[in-house]
Amino acid sequence: MHEMSYIARMVELAIDVAKQSNAERIKNIVVQIGKTSGVMPYYMYKYYPEAVKGTILEGAELVCEEVPVKALCEECGAEYLPVRENNYLCPECGGRKAHIIEGKGVTLKNIVVED
Ligand SMILES: [Zn+2]
Repeated sequence: MHEMSYIARMVELAIDVAKQSNAERIKNIVVQIGKTSGVMPYYMYKYYPEAVKGTILEGAELVCEEVPVKALCEECGAEYLPVRENNYLCPECGGRKAHIIEGKGVTLKNIVVED
């Protein structure tokens, strides 16, 4: 389960951010999960309570947002959402060379501090 290492990393990051902003209590943390990351939000939610136990994040809510995959065509520069029906090709020029610019990994988007 690689979700466990992802959630550990997100919790670590969120704690760093909380410390930097001198936050005492965190309301929630928002994590973005890319569609191609292979990470299942279900497991993120499942491991989260254990990962935050005894930290400043204990009691804060985890919010997972799924991010669709977006590609950048290297041939014409268009940004597009690859679809299987089109063999993931660029809809503008039909180009095959593209790289994924969004929806790849797992990132900490935001933490909300309780006031
Ligand atoms: Zn193109």
